[in-house]
Amino acid sequence: MKIRNCWFCSQPIYRLLLLALLLVSLIPVGFLMSHLYQAAWQNAWREINEKHRLLALNLANPIKIYIDDRRSMLGKLAQDIAKDQSHSQSIKKNMLEDAILFMDGFESIALVSRSGRTLLLAHENEKLEANDHRYQNDSCFVHSRNTQIWCLSNIKRGPVTKRPTIIMTQAIIDTDRPPDEVLVAELSIDLIEKLRENIKFGIKGHSAIVDKLGHVIAHPNPEWMRTMHDLSKLSVVQKMMHGETGVTQFYSPFVKEDMVAGYTSVPEIGWGVMVPQPLSEVANQVHRLMKSNTEWLLLGVSLALLAGLFLVRWITSPINRLADAAEDLLRTNFKTELPSLSDYAPKETHKLYRAINILIDGFRKAQQENTELNATLQQRVDDATAKLLESNARLERLALCDHLTTLPNRRQFESVLRNRLNRRQNDSEEICLMLIDIDHFKTINDCYGHAAGDLVIREIASLLNKAMRLGDLVARYGGDEFAAQLQCTRDICTTRAEQLRQEIENTLIEWNNAHITATVSIGMIYVDKLRDENIDMLLHRVDTAMYQAKKHGRNQVHLIELDPV
Ligand code: GH3
Ligand code: MG
Repeated sequence: MKIRNCWFCSQPIYRLLLLALLLVSLIPVGFLMSHLYQAAWQNAWREINEKHRLLALNLANPIKIYIDDRRSMLGKLAQDIAKDQSHSQSIKKNMLEDAILFMDGFESIALVSRSGRTLLLAHENEKLEANDHRYQNDSCFVHSRNTQIWCLSNIKRGPVTKRPTIIMTQAIIDTDRPPDEVLVAELSIDLIEKLRENIKFGIKGHSAIVDKLGHVIAHPNPEWMRTMHDLSKLSVVQKMMHGETGVTQFYSPFVKEDMVAGYTSVPEIGWGVMVPQPLSEVANQVHRLMKSNTEWLLLGVSLALLAGLFLVRWITSPINRLADAAEDLLRTNFKTELPSLSDYAPKETHKLYRAINILIDGFRKAQQENTELNATLQQRVDDATAKLLESNARLERLALCDHLTTLPNRRQFESVLRNRLNRRQNDSEEICLMLIDIDHFKTINDCYGHAAGDLVIREIASLLNKAMRLGDLVARYGGDEFAAQLQCTRDICTTRAEQLRQEIENTLIEWNNAHITATVSIGMIYVDKLRDENIDMLLHRVDTAMYQAKKHGRNQVHLIELDPV
């Protein structure tokens, strides 16, 4: 059978099955991996959205509470001072110092006149020199003085502490007239920084707080805090400055990476709070998850392949054994046996095994019958051949023998004579030929009948045959004629011819209570060593001799002795 010239058709089953198994397992695994990858990112984004935004909000709330508390405290102090404008300056100073001592978060509190001159000052740090800073150009001071509403500044260098600080102002309100004094306090940002410090996310994740202008209030970079670094160029900061809340991506010049950040702005105060984390950390988280998923999937695929390999081997191994055994059977002309299959081999292979065994049995039976048939046929052919040979031999004998006398016929006589002449070793061998013709044979036929004539022919043939010696040859030459070749000398030939003639003459042949006698005329030629041995010439001569015998009166021998050449 011709196997098609294609890669697929030329592969063994186990390779194709494994390939199919690999494809069948890898394609869904590929889809699953892609789906898992997308799901992992979606999950990461959802987490970022929820956690980062929540963290930003969680940081914004305590800031607002912190500021609200300080506002209340400063408001209460302003009320206390306003209650009795008759307090002496020393009492007011004590009130300010008590406030610094007991109210957490204030670094300095100054009582400032309407014109902006510092009237009284209390501060945490004893070492600070007396300060006569004038506030007439301070926006918060001006705002509170003119509107009697408290005010909170952006981050700025404190006029008293000379450190980055938030200025909070509160007018001392007298119901009868406009305020002529304003409390100007510097708020510590240390507590805000402590709040910020606790909010971290991931490894490089951090949090940051900026004021309404986008300047750093609290940040993990101390230098930026010290210089109140301007971050207003960052997109996330701009969003916070617009009072938005959400999650966004931006490039961080601090971490020098793309970041993802949850952000919000503190209500009323307008500060921005953000919780950024490097995008790479999120990606690493996704990749770690994917790596773990991939390992499990690959383990699953490997186990599936191992199971597949086992199954494929289990199926193809007995098939291969059967195929090898079938080749052996062909090679050994079905002398070998199929190997037995394991009990654990697949059911179908057992079925195949049984079918092949049945085929082999059938083939062997047919082979046996064929052998027997061949033997019978051979016997018949041998028998027929033997019969044919026998028949041919008989036909040959018949072709060469005379059926009446069983003597060789004329053809045989001439053939043998020709052979003898050809085989003569040398010219010294003599040849003596005789032609014997029954005298007046027609008369015998006429007198006694054709059957009697046949009997006479047979009797004379018998006499002639008996008279022959080793090396002589006699044949019925035709009708009532016989030919003979004698192996002897001229004289002996002459004598034997004469004896033959007499013996025939003296023989009584019985026929229907009658006795038939017959005579013969014998023509004879003798060829010595110098004669030409041409057979036609010799036969012609002997015929001539026989006619001479007839001519000279029959019942006699006439010898023609050929002259030497
Ligand atoms: P001759 O002395 O001159 O030989 O006289 P003949 O009568 O013998 O003459 P010829 O030899 O010519 O005759 C031969 C005859 O022999 C003729 C034929 O009828 C007869 N004859 C030939 N063959 C057979 C045979 O097989 N059986 C019988 N019964 N007669 C045969
Ligand atoms: Mg005759």
